[in-house]
Amino acid sequence: MGHIEERYDVLIAGTGAAGLCCALNLPRTARVLLITKDAADRSDSFLAQGGICMLRGEADFAGYFEDTMRAGHYENDEAAVRQMIARSPAMIEELVGYGVRFARDEGGNFRFTREGGHSRPRILFHGDETGKEITSHLLAEARTRENCTICEYTEILDIIAGQDGCCGGVLRDIASGEIFPVYADCTLLATGGVGGLFQNSTNYRHLTGDALGIALRRGIEVEHLDYVQIHPTTLFSSKPGRRFLISESVRGEGAVLLDKDGERFCNELMPRDVVTGDIRAQMQKDGTDHVWLDMRPVGERTLREHFPTIFARCREEGYDPLKVPVPVVPAQHYFMGGVKVDLDGRTSMPRLFAAGETACNGVHGKNRLASNSLLESLIWAERAAKAMAYFDQLKTFPPIDAASYADVAALRAEDAKHIREEAEREATID
Ligand SMILES: Cc1cc2nc3c(=O)[nH]c(=O)nc-3n(C[C@H](O)[C@H](O)[C@H](O)COP(=O)(O)OP(=O)(O)OC[C@H]3O[C@@H](n4cnc5c(N)ncnc54)[C@H](O)[C@@H]3O)c2cc1C
Repeated sequence: MGHIEERYDVLIAGTGAAGLCCALNLPRTARVLLITKDAADRSDSFLAQGGICMLRGEADFAGYFEDTMRAGHYENDEAAVRQMIARSPAMIEELVGYGVRFARDEGGNFRFTREGGHSRPRILFHGDETGKEITSHLLAEARTRENCTICEYTEILDIIAGQDGCCGGVLRDIASGEIFPVYADCTLLATGGVGGLFQNSTNYRHLTGDALGIALRRGIEVEHLDYVQIHPTTLFSSKPGRRFLISESVRGEGAVLLDKDGERFCNELMPRDVVTGDIRAQMQKDGTDHVWLDMRPVGERTLREHFPTIFARCREEGYDPLKVPVPVVPAQHYFMGGVKVDLDGRTSMPRLFAAGETACNGVHGKNRLASNSLLESLIWAERAAKAMAYFDQLKTFPPIDAASYADVAALRAEDAKHIREEAEREATID
């Protein structure tokens, strides 16, 4: 852990795309502390394979809007969807400004790929490591900023609530176990999703919905905790740990799903929840614990050039995608619900913001359209950074009772229980 002061202008919990993008959009005069529970480069943002959506000119607006709404079962917040789509070209420009490279044709124009639920190709990519390309540049940029301090292996256990609203966070140095307060004029919760609470998930195991647990404890509004997205195609394995994702864009480029007899059984380009339902029904019918993904139609060149990581991983597991189909199974992947926020990432508590997978701004409705989440994380983080400028300096610095957080395992277990109970309660209301 680096040196942490007791007072900052902004405290950011999480160094994924959301946390970093917020830091980079704050004025350089603002003193910013970013903390992360693990190493700074171990976030789901680094794992994103498929890509990031971008509006391809005004003529594409209606189509992009409709695709997002249809995937979300029309439960999306329309204003949020409009904001994300309209802002996408400027956000991509900002990323390119940080040095992010997206695939381009010989003329230097962006190349676009397609994933399930999209009516046309509008996804920018960098091989099958788009998230790493984007987030490593954001992290490198943040490390050059003198106003930003990044502390790894430091977790947020709680927020500090007072008369002014949120006054900062209760933090813990994971190595020493020391628990201490950090006061900040504004705080951003960007602790990612909830995959660590599931046995089978594509997420890093340390992403356990910690900000949600805090929100539930503190009576901060949350929304749709039952809206969990299952990804249809993760590499089947009986080993414990994170499940390896086989991006939807592999199907976008022609890969097909096969049953136990080698027959196709669904439309591979439907939204995720539909394909997941079809796979589960087929597994039940066949009495199997996986189905097969045949990537041979994609062709050797595209497999090697566009999907080198997926190609290599399948081979490591003993399946050569050029020769045989690979076994795939659905697994938890993304969380559409979260801490409820407005169009600027404001939560129900003054001075407390949330962005990225931790937050629910309504953009995804009931089901996220592929490659909308990096974009959404970045845009709401940027909006939150701008909105933070409207808060004056804290006037009160409530003390914390460090001893009350001593049993962290019990705290997290209790939070996980609350999250599950709330999700079950919401599911019965729907
Ligand atoms: C395998 C995979 C592939 C994906 N592919 C795509 C894709 O192609 N396109 C797309 O748009 N989206 C994709 N996604 C989704 C997307 O990557 C995430 O939704 C997005 O990156 C979330 O960003 P974030 O900043 O909110 O969270 P994350 O990037 O997950 O970052 C969370 C951060 O919070 C930290 N943290 C957690 N708890 C605490 C705590 N208590 N205290 C302090 N820090 C904490 C973590 O260490 C981490 O730094 C994919 C996701 C996965 C898992």
